[in-house]
Amino acid sequence: MSSVRLNIISAIYGNLPKEAQITKIEFEGPEIAVYVKNPSVLADKGEIVKKIAKDIKKRIVIKADEKARKDKKETEEIIKNLVPKEAEIVNIKFDDELGEVLIKAKKPGLVIGKGGTLQNKIFYETYWRPVIVREPPIKSRTIDSILTHIYNETEYHAKILKVFGERIHRELLFKDRSVRVTALGGFYEVGRSAVLVETPESKILLDVGLNPSVTGGEKFFPRLDIDQVRLEDIDAVVITHAHLDHCGMVPLLFKYGYNGPVYTTAPTRDIMALMQLDALDVAEKEGRPVPYTAKEVRKELLHTITLDYEEVTDIAPDVKLTFYNAGHIIGSAMAHLHIGEGTHNIVYTGDFKYAKTKLLDKANDEFLRVDTMIMETTYGAQEQEGREEAEEKLINIINGTLNRGGRVLIPVLAVGRGQEIMLVLNEAMKNKKIPEVPIYVTGLVDEITAIHNAYPEMLSREVREAILYKDENPFTSEFFHKIEGFREDIAQGEPSIILATSGMLNGGPAVEFFKTMASDSKNSIIFVSYQAEGTLGRKVREGVKEIQIIDRDGRVENIKIEMEVNHVEGFSGHSDRRQLLHYLRNLSAKPRNLVLNHGEPNAIESFRRQVDREKERLGLRGTKIYTPQILDSLRVA
Ligand SMILES: [Zn+2]
Repeated sequence: MSSVRLNIISAIYGNLPKEAQITKIEFEGPEIAVYVKNPSVLADKGEIVKKIAKDIKKRIVIKADEKARKDKKETEEIIKNLVPKEAEIVNIKFDDELGEVLIKAKKPGLVIGKGGTLQNKIFYETYWRPVIVREPPIKSRTIDSILTHIYNETEYHAKILKVFGERIHRELLFKDRSVRVTALGGFYEVGRSAVLVETPESKILLDVGLNPSVTGGEKFFPRLDIDQVRLEDIDAVVITHAHLDHCGMVPLLFKYGYNGPVYTTAPTRDIMALMQLDALDVAEKEGRPVPYTAKEVRKELLHTITLDYEEVTDIAPDVKLTFYNAGHIIGSAMAHLHIGEGTHNIVYTGDFKYAKTKLLDKANDEFLRVDTMIMETTYGAQEQEGREEAEEKLINIINGTLNRGGRVLIPVLAVGRGQEIMLVLNEAMKNKKIPEVPIYVTGLVDEITAIHNAYPEMLSREVREAILYKDENPFTSEFFHKIEGFREDIAQGEPSIILATSGMLNGGPAVEFFKTMASDSKNSIIFVSYQAEGTLGRKVREGVKEIQIIDRDGRVENIKIEMEVNHVEGFSGHSDRRQLLHYLRNLSAKPRNLVLNHGEPNAIESFRRQVDREKERLGLRGTKIYTPQILDSLRVA
C-alpha cells in the first residue's frame, strides 16, 4: 500500500474514538469511507470527523459495517415514520456494497431536514447512509433509468470506485513540477472540444466532444490518436457540460479501453447520457455509422462521479478539481484544477454566459488563484443585442408571422436555449404580448425540461422559487404541447409556434419541419443559437435561397426557401464580445497565461487583438495571450 494511503489510514485510526470500532477503511473514488460497528458513538461527535477531514484535506464519510445495518424492511419502516408525509417518498432502494439507501421524494428538502438533521437521524437510526434525490413534477424517464441502472450494478460500481480511489491516492514519483496543456480539439474552431492537461504524475482530459458540423471522417473526432493520449494513462475525464460538442465522444473512450472516472455535475451526467443515446438513435435512423453503442454509454454512467459546484475533489495524486457555475446550460461548469501544492492553477471555462438569463445565474468570476485560463471565444468578434431587445424582436417576428396566418419554427438545442425560449414564450403569452396559439415542443426538449425540474437548485432564483414554492411551474404551463417528433398536420396546420431540435438543422425533427415549411412565405424560422460552419442552419441563416437535401433514400431534394429567415442572438448561452471583456476585467484573480479556444479563426484573432489593445484596462498587463492550433502543446509551468 502507498504511504499516502497509510498516512490517511493512520490519521483516521489515531483520531477517531476507539469505541466506534472501525472494521475497514475504503478509498471509494475521491471519498474515504470509514466503516464502523458503532456509528452511534459518533452521533454527537461530528466535529471530530470534520477535524480529521480538514487535517488530511480529504472527504471522509462514516458508514456502518454491513453487519450493524438494520434489516431493509425495518429500515423502510423507520424512514417512513421519521419523514413527514408531505415529503411524498416515491421510492427507496438499497446499495449493499456502499451501505447507502436511495430515497426518492417529491419534496427532498423535507427528508434532509433543517441543516441535514433528519438525514443524519435516518443514518443513526438505521445505519444506512441516505442519498436523497428529487422526483420531479414532470416524470423523467432518463433519471429513472439511470438510477435503476446504477442500483442494479452496485457490485461493479463499488468495485470500480475502489480502483479509482487507489489510483487517486497513489505515491507521487517525480520531483519535476511542470504542467503542459495540449490542444486536441476546439481550437481555432467550434466543435470536438478536448484539452489534455499533463503533469509528470498525471494526465487529465477536459471535455471530449464531437464535431457537430460533420457526421464522420477525421474531423468528427478530437485528436485522441496521438501518443500522449494513451487511454490507460488517463487519470480522469472532466466534462464541463452536456452539449455533444463537449461530451459526445466520451463513450468512445470506453470503447477503446478507458477504465477510469468521468467527473461532472449531476444534471450533466443525466443529460449527457440522454444526448448520446439520442445521437445514436438519429444516426441509426439516418443510416450513418455510429462510433459507439449504448453499451458504452451504460459503462460511462457507472464510471461517472457527480460533484456539486464549489466542492473540492482529488482526481489525481497531484490534482484537485473544483467546478463553478458557468451560466451556459443547466449543470454547466467551469473546471478549476489545482495542481501540486499550489504549483499551478488552471481554469478551463468551457462554454459560459457572463450575464443573467431567465434560466440561470451568470458565470462565476471569483477564483482564489488562476495562473492559466483557457477561455471560450465563440462570440469573440460579435456583439449580441441586449436581452430586452432580443425578447422584443422575437415577439415582433412571432406576431408578424401569426397575424398573416403563418407558423413559426424555432430550431433549438434540446438543452439550454429550448428552456430559455420556453420561459420567454410562457411569460409573453401570459402577459398577452403574443396571441394564444399552441406552442409545440418536440420530445427531446420535453424530456430535458423534466430533468431541469429535478434540479431546481441549479436554476436561477426566480425559476427555482416558481417551481418549489409557488406551484406555478413555468415548464408545465398549459400553453405547451408535447409532440414526439415531426408532424405534417402541424407543419401545415393552424398558426402555431414549434420548438424542435436540432438547433443547427443538422438532423432531428427541426429539419423535417423546415423542409415542409420552407416554401410557404407566410411561415418564418427564427435562429436563436450559434450556427456552426458547415451546418444547414448556417447556410439558411446566411440567406441561401435554395438548398439541396439528401433524403433517407439517397435522393437529392431541392428546397426553395420562401419563408422569412430571422436570427436573434441575444438569447445565446455564450458570452458576446462585451461580456467576455467584462469577464476578464472582473476576474478576482488575473491569469498569467490566457489561452483562447472554442472560436472560429476570425473570432479568436479579433478577440486577441481587442484584449491586447485593452490590456491595461482589463488588468492584464503581465498576461501572455496564446491562440494555439490543434496539436500545439503549451508548457504553462
Ligand atoms: Zn455548449
